[in-house]
Amino acid sequence: MKLASVTVDGVRRGALVNETRRSVSLLSATVDDIVRGAPVVVAGDLPLPEVRLESPLHRFNRDVLCTGWNYWDHFEESAGKREGQDPVSRPLRPTFFTKGPDTVIGPFDPIAYDPSLSQKWDYEAEIAMVIGRDGRSIPEEKALDHVFGFLVANDVSQRDLQRAHGGQWLKGKSLDATMPLGPWLTTVEDVDLTGMRVQCKVNGVLMQDASSAQMAFSFAQIIAELSEGMTLRAGDVVLTGTPSGVGQAREPQVFLGDGDVVVTRVSGLGELRNTVTLTDLGGR
Ligand code: MG
Repeated sequence: MKLASVTVDGVRRGALVNETRRSVSLLSATVDDIVRGAPVVVAGDLPLPEVRLESPLHRFNRDVLCTGWNYWDHFEESAGKREGQDPVSRPLRPTFFTKGPDTVIGPFDPIAYDPSLSQKWDYEAEIAMVIGRDGRSIPEEKALDHVFGFLVANDVSQRDLQRAHGGQWLKGKSLDATMPLGPWLTTVEDVDLTGMRVQCKVNGVLMQDASSAQMAFSFAQIIAELSEGMTLRAGDVVLTGTPSGVGQAREPQVFLGDGDVVVTRVSGLGELRNTVTLTDLGGR
């Protein structure tokens, strides 16, 4: 099941996506409510090209939960390359941080870009999990029972801000309207958990290309570790890390600018297509 979010006649609704028929079936509930247990009731069809897909999720329990450095080749290209510092050894446990929910935009919306805030806007293709059942201290072998589904995300980051505030990443990961999410939420039973291909293209050039099989910590390990002593709730979004090839680690470095087109794709989950767009976010 692929659940999208659309606004029809001024009302936001969930929609079942049928890619083969190129259509969507409107639902009586929003995706936010379905994730929290509302039934899926079909209430009419529309051709897919006639609707504008929005972020599947709009109601957030809290910040988006994120995993850092979950592909070792990305860890090596980042932590291992800091000038004037010794390489850092691989962490034994996942790295976690959060992004503010006002970062979230739809799968085809513009990515806000304000160069007065940062000159180092970077892309990070990722798989996002959506929790469907509350739990605390969830054992690894039961972790996937708590997952409602998966979607594609791009954890767009401002590398200078990421390092500017005492070593924590919140600020450089939380600028408004910078994280595309979508294009739809694919429920867990329809996802190939053995290996999804994660790719990011900028202006048609392939910058990231990896398999989720390369993740240092599995989906289940992330949930088990994150939920230990900390309740995860239906509707929580958990990003699972980006592979190598980010702009900051390239030689020469590549940062995003006004007009760049970023395509983020995960096999089986769909594709985001977003244009980086000059936006006044209020930088001083
Ligand atoms: Mg990331």
